[in-house]
This record gives sequence, structure tokens and C-alpha cells, in this order.
Amino acid sequence: MDVNASALSPRRLTRQIAVGSVKVGGDAPISVQSMTTTKTADVEGTLAQIYALAANGADIVRCTCNDEGAAEGLAQIVPRSPVPIVADIHFHVEMALAALEAGVQGLRLNPGNLRKPAEIRLVASEARDRGVPIRIGVNAGSLHPDIYERFGGATPEALVESARLELAYFEEVDFSDVKISVKASSVATMIAAYRLASATFDHPLHLGVTEAGPLPGGLLKGTAGIATLLAEGIGDTLRYSLTADPVEEAKAGRQLLEVLGLRERKGLDLIACPSCGRAEVDVIKVANEAQIALEELNIPIQVAVMGCVVNGPGEARHADLGIAAGKKRGHLFIQGQIIRVVPEDEMVSALVEEAKKIADEGVAARLAARDVSAEAEAEADRAALLDARGADANHAAERITRIRRRTGA
Ligand code: SF4
Repeated sequence: MDVNASALSPRRLTRQIAVGSVKVGGDAPISVQSMTTTKTADVEGTLAQIYALAANGADIVRCTCNDEGAAEGLAQIVPRSPVPIVADIHFHVEMALAALEAGVQGLRLNPGNLRKPAEIRLVASEARDRGVPIRIGVNAGSLHPDIYERFGGATPEALVESARLELAYFEEVDFSDVKISVKASSVATMIAAYRLASATFDHPLHLGVTEAGPLPGGLLKGTAGIATLLAEGIGDTLRYSLTADPVEEAKAGRQLLEVLGLRERKGLDLIACPSCGRAEVDVIKVANEAQIALEELNIPIQVAVMGCVVNGPGEARHADLGIAAGKKRGHLFIQGQIIRVVPEDEMVSALVEEAKKIADEGVAARLAARDVSAEAEAEADRAALLDARGADANHAAERITRIRRRTGA
């Protein structure tokens, strides 16, 4: 656990449940979820999306089970999926029972949509007998009308009350293998609801801002809600709900946990300066090209792209590897030390080549193999740039003359 994670509040201890092979709650790593957008009856199409989601950070994937074709599809998808599958159930109790028959590793029930107590108890009994956990997935947009009326709207208290009532039905049949979500599209409501849920239940919590919308706003809303709660130690699993390719949800979830230091980095962390008038290259273009080329390598490495050699290597000295632009050349550096100077059009390929070598040989070996003349070449570039952009750039001599004229010095 790195310094980021230690700056967060300690994680609230919850019970642990198992969604197939993935533990959720307790001291289990916070898991990432996403949901397929294919028709579940389309077995090959759905499996292709599940594989893409798993490759991009999803630990658990949810598929809708809205008709018989979907349930039959699940029976074929579950054994071929690389991650546990949760069936999403809304109105039909038969679909919950069919999904259990299909062998899913988890169910999600929406208490606002599946309302008859006898049916809820029936699903909970069947899940209990099969050892399959259920998520009580409360959603502000589909709250039970009675609760909506009693609380005067989809308030945080109303969302938590909905989860509490559902849990009470489950407990009547001695079933508590449960995780809970209390999602809302309002970030403020969602944060308040989860805080209350965390104080009310010891079951694991599944975090999310529902219907967050397209990028980039959806990403911002999801992050505002989920990260706030994670920083308070609340949350055991999460899903970004984006109106986008679900791969973006998986990536966002994984990256959020990595940047908070809550999961070990699996892939690339590209940092880049925002660029400014000192930049010697189109930083946005180089950073985007580097991101695409380096992501494919699947190496857990932090790489910096900096727009100028004067400030770049120093500001990014914590990065494993980086490049800074200057005078039509790039200064390739490892942990702030210049190892090679390359032509400007080879900056991205040099980064890729060096990243592979670091993965194979390690940082120490690559530093030992550096070009010994690189630092002197880099220093000459820096000096030339400072000279060109230093006092002369502001026409200092003329300005000083004018200042002296005004002040009579
Ligand atoms: S690294 Fe250089 S170009 Fe990039 S923001 Fe800093 S000063 Fe500007």
C-alpha cells in the first residue's frame, strides 16, 4: 500500500461475501464491475464484450437477464467467462430463478421493481440454497412508490430504508449473503445515502453514481461520488455507469483504484505536463501517441511526457521513464537522469523501446547502460534554450533602458 492509500481514511470493515472467485468486502481488494450492453442471448457477442471488460480491469461483469433467451444465453456464458457473472433482474421473479438455474455467480435485484414479499423470499431461499449472493440494488430513479411517498422523495434516508426492508425479507429466510447499493444520479444524494448505508449495515457496499451520462461529464460525476466515499473508507466494489463503451467503465474503475493506491498498478500510468509557452513540441499529440503505443505493452510503468527540457526532467523525476522535448530533440530520462538524446520524430518510439527494456532488465540495468555523453548534450540544449528564451525573449536591455528613463536613474 503506498502513501496515497495511507492518506485515506481506514477502510470500514464489512462482512465478506464471495461472488464466484471474487471476494467482496472485509479485507478483499476493492473490485471493479461493469455491465455488458449486448443482448445476453447473443452468447458470442456478449462473451467478446466480457473478455474486453476483463482485459481492461473488470473483476465482475453483470449481464441483463430480461427474458428466456437471456437466461439460456447465461447458461452458456457462465462457464466460458473469465470473470464471475451477475444477472441483473428487474421485474420478473421467473428471470431471477432462471438465472440461478443458468449458474450465475450473483444476482442483482432492484427492490423498487420486484416488489412482492413472497417472490423476494422465494428468490432469496433459492440463492441461499445455491450459495449465490444477491446485491440489493436500490436506485433513486425506481424507488418503491410507498417509500418515495413516505420520505417525500428519493432522499438518502428513503434509499437506505428501501435496502433495509429488502434485507428484512431476506433475513426472514435466513439469507444474508448480500451486498448493497444505494445509487442516485445526484452525486450529493448518492454520497449522503452511502454514508448512511455504511453507518446502518455491515454488508459490503457497491458504489456507483447511476445514469452519470456520456464522457467526460459522466466520468467526473462518477469520480466525484465514488472517490469521495473511497477516501472516507466506504466501499467494497464499484461501477462507473457511463453512456459509453463499457470498456471505459472498466478502465475508469481500475484507474481510480490505482491512482488512490487501493489496487496495484497493472498497466501504464502516463503523466504529461499540461504544456505552456515553453513547450518545444505539440505535447498533446506526443502524449496521445505515447499513450496508445505504451498501453498495448501492458507494462506496469509510469511514463512522463514533458514539453520542455528546462523544467521537464526535474518535474517528472519520480517517473520510471520520461521524455522531454528541446531543440528538435528529445531527452530520454529514467527517474530524472538523462540516458539518451533522440531526434524529435523518434520520441515515441524511443519511449516504447526503453519501456520494454525496463520491463525486461529493470531500472538499475538501464541506468547503467545509459549513453554517458547524453547528460552533456542535454545540458547544452538546456543552456541554448535558456539563452534563447531567457532575458532576450523579454527584450530586457530595451526595457531596462526605458525603466531607467522613467525613474531618472
Ligand atoms: S514541462 Fe515545460 S512545457 Fe511543460 S508545462 Fe512545464 S514548463 Fe511548460
